[in-house]
Amino acid sequence: MDITRIFEQFDKYVVPNYTRKDVVLVEGKGSRVRDATGREYLDLFPGWGCNGLGHCHPRVVEAIRRQAGRLIHVANDYYNELQGELAEIISTRSFGGKCFFCNSGAEAIEGAIKFARIFTADERHRVVTMKESFHGRTLAAVTATGQDKYHQGIGPLSPGFCYVPFNDIDAVAEAIDDETCAVLLELIQGEGGVNVADEEYVRQLRELCDGQNVLLVIDEVQTGCGRTGEWFVHQHYGIEPDLITMAKALGGGVAIGGIEARPDIADRIVPGLHASTFGGNPIACAAAIAAFRAVEEENLLENARSMGEYLVERFGGIAERTGLVKEIRGRGLMVGCELNIPGAPVARACLEKGLLIDCTHDTVLRVLPAMTVTQDELDEGLEIVEAALDEQQG
Ligand SMILES: *Cc1c(COP(=O)(O)O)cnc(C)c1O
Repeated sequence: MDITRIFEQFDKYVVPNYTRKDVVLVEGKGSRVRDATGREYLDLFPGWGCNGLGHCHPRVVEAIRRQAGRLIHVANDYYNELQGELAEIISTRSFGGKCFFCNSGAEAIEGAIKFARIFTADERHRVVTMKESFHGRTLAAVTATGQDKYHQGIGPLSPGFCYVPFNDIDAVAEAIDDETCAVLLELIQGEGGVNVADEEYVRQLRELCDGQNVLLVIDEVQTGCGRTGEWFVHQHYGIEPDLITMAKALGGGVAIGGIEARPDIADRIVPGLHASTFGGNPIACAAAIAAFRAVEEENLLENARSMGEYLVERFGGIAERTGLVKEIRGRGLMVGCELNIPGAPVARACLEKGLLIDCTHDTVLRVLPAMTVTQDELDEGLEIVEAALDEQQG
């Protein structure tokens, strides 16, 4: 393979909006991925969490192959065999709502905002979101994102949003007025540095929204579909949201997003109010159904819980030995390790040593391992992280 040619093509023909490492990934299996030179990497951040079951899970591959030979796409003015089945799987594993399917996290957020506004029948339109949140890059989703750096240079933002500090119930109470239709938040902020919502805060939020007739919308794009050790992160908190958004791991690596809405909210979305041409197509639904089955039949919720605990314990050991760790946060297989030194050089050093991880918010090393990850793989990965940290200390 001519790697130089690949770099040249990107340089000349692809919008340069991503910071790319000089690595061309060509194949993967589970938590291992190989580049065009044949070098293998341990991937503890597979596809930003989209590869929830790691790379090319055999059940997902088989489901896609089978469906590809049968029917790839049909329009939503017909029924298809799989969309209803996927909706049932999601509904019965969460809060009994109805599903709408789209293609990405941002698209799910856009839809959820529309659903909330439609439900409140134009009387209320304002949405309260959190500082340091991340909800995607389309205009309303990026407006909902409470980080200035994502608002630069794009002109007027979408009207009707305001931001409050995370984990501050008084700030939410103050922000809600009689034009507010929804509070939108992640219960573990991913991009924002792996910040976990307090249990008391989430309970109070539910009560506050109920009292004010405001919808509680949980963005489960990163936390959903098993990553935290429950199907959806809100289940750890014992509350029921009114709407959730999902994407990333939903399709086992295939692009699919979704909204689950309380039935009475869902039933307000009559024909003409919302749509997504590719949404809920047979290929994406087949992949997603296979992913849910894999989690169940291979006991991966349990694995996410136990491997998540092990991961935090191992990071704790690194913290003690190096003195470079400020805090370890997360739940299940969504873990951030905040350093007291810059994290980007550490993540770079890990890449050189054959480990793929992320650094967010300057100092937070972030991992989103596949739900199939093994203890040996975590050991191997964290030994590399520790070696990379030792190097930084010189
Ligand atoms: C990644 C992410 C999104 C955006 O998803 P896209 O598929 O990139 O549009 C939205 N919300 C959260 C919490 C995310 O982590």
